[in-house]
Amino acid sequence: MALVLNADFRPLSYFPLSLWCWQDAVKAVFLDRVSIVHEYETVVRSPSFEMRLPSVIALKEYVEASRKPAFTRFNVFLRDKFSCQYCGDRFQAHELTFDHVLPRSRGGHTTWWNVVTACSGCNLSKGDGLPGFHGMTPVSRPREPTAWQLLENGRAFPPNYLHESWLDYLYWDIELEE
Ligand SMILES: [Zn+2]
Repeated sequence: MALVLNADFRPLSYFPLSLWCWQDAVKAVFLDRVSIVHEYETVVRSPSFEMRLPSVIALKEYVEASRKPAFTRFNVFLRDKFSCQYCGDRFQAHELTFDHVLPRSRGGHTTWWNVVTACSGCNLSKGDGLPGFHGMTPVSRPREPTAWQLLENGRAFPPNYLHESWLDYLYWDIELEE
């Protein structure tokens, strides 16, 4: 799999994260549609050529991104800037969980408006409590982000933050179920 960046070297989409299988990535390299940004150690060989598999590629022509962001863990984290919405601290993706503001056991739904990023500590102490229980109310009111807001949030991270660890995000980039 290769992470696909737009011509401005930002991921083509965060929603979901744009990934191509290696065959498509290699084909695009040969068609001169993309440039290689990073490579894997793995080499592919055929009788006529050999090349290291691209891990990150960038499109040569800019593509407009305008669709509505998918409701995924990754995008929830990105909306909340990888910060726990209860203690306000920033965490790595693998240290974060998502929390239902109104617990599911009390009828809360899994939607943009009821799911926030939480560290495991805060998630645990909030438990099944109602919003405001023990004073635990999200720092900002959860809402559906626009694609633009997610892009802006993505830009707030160091350029390699999302690239170097993009494999970690595959797991998080699964559409959440209602
Ligand atoms: Zn926290």
